[in-house]
Amino acid sequence: MWNRKKIQAKWSYFRAQRLQPTGNFTEFVVRVYYAVLACCMEGDGRSCPIGQVRNRRLSRFVYRGIYDRPDHDYDMVLEDCKRNLLQMGYLHLSEDGMRIFVDRPLDFLLEGEHERYLSMARETFCLPSAQAPKKSPGVPVDLICPECGGKMVLRRGTYGVFFGCSHFPRCRCTMPLAEGTFRLLQTNGMALYAVSRPCWKCGQPLRVRSYFPYFDLLQWLPGAEELLQPLEAIRLSIFPQLDAYLERHCDNIAERYSKKAGFSYVANLCPRCDMLQGSQMTLNEVCAALHTAAQTGTLSQYVEEYIPLTADIFSPEEWRDAVEYLMDI
Ligand SMILES: [Zn+2]
Ligand SMILES: [Zn+2]
Repeated sequence: MWNRKKIQAKWSYFRAQRLQPTGNFTEFVVRVYYAVLACCMEGDGRSCPIGQVRNRRLSRFVYRGIYDRPDHDYDMVLEDCKRNLLQMGYLHLSEDGMRIFVDRPLDFLLEGEHERYLSMARETFCLPSAQAPKKSPGVPVDLICPECGGKMVLRRGTYGVFFGCSHFPRCRCTMPLAEGTFRLLQTNGMALYAVSRPCWKCGQPLRVRSYFPYFDLLQWLPGAEELLQPLEAIRLSIFPQLDAYLERHCDNIAERYSKKAGFSYVANLCPRCDMLQGSQMTLNEVCAALHTAAQTGTLSQYVEEYIPLTADIFSPEEWRDAVEYLMDI
């Protein structure tokens, strides 16, 4: 059985294997197996949701600080390792493809196993640079890479939008979109936007207020409109704690029960006739106005104030859930 200690002890063997994969098995596949196993140990011991073994997560285990070939397509290597491990019966997926199971201990010294693996995996290790995917330049941001101190860059990869280090491929540090954007909002604040419009019922001029962190993020990530577009849907009535704060803070924001919808939600009210203004349709109009303002550089005119994002009104978990749901991660 190749445990972590044994892998460490075989460092020079694995190094040689990177260049000439002729031996029993390669470092990549051993590392991928143990990365999957580690994920599953966090679950019920031998299986975990497939989402937990995303390449981005595996790449930290497989690549961190040890593999610096600039033409190396790590997605392809990881996909190759996973596919071969599945084919060889070390792993299997549930019928619906949602869970991954670790079926047997990895012993690369078993007779015949390494030949079988290499017959399937040969091309992974001779990847011509022309086949490496073109990395988009990405959008630079004021976030410091926790590993090398360089700047982070917002990028789209095979598995979605994420923050990567600008020193890639020298530094392979990545940060999930939710974590990086949470840091940006916490550091810079979340704006409370107000747009004037008449009450749809009585015509009274009023101000409709909401948060739209999408527009805040664009201030810090200019040019990321397309990458972050799904986050536009985050607005009043998405974060319960933040909504409760705004209810306390603004006279015209309140929670109302909708008989038609069968649930209550937080919305803007008309100060004269008390009619709800904050339906999604109204907020869509507000959002459209902010889009125009962002394009003409007048967005700041609509910022009423910045909401202090203390831990009791803005939690990383709520933010992460919303971001992952909307980005379909
Ligand atoms: Zn870095
Ligand atoms: Zn009214």
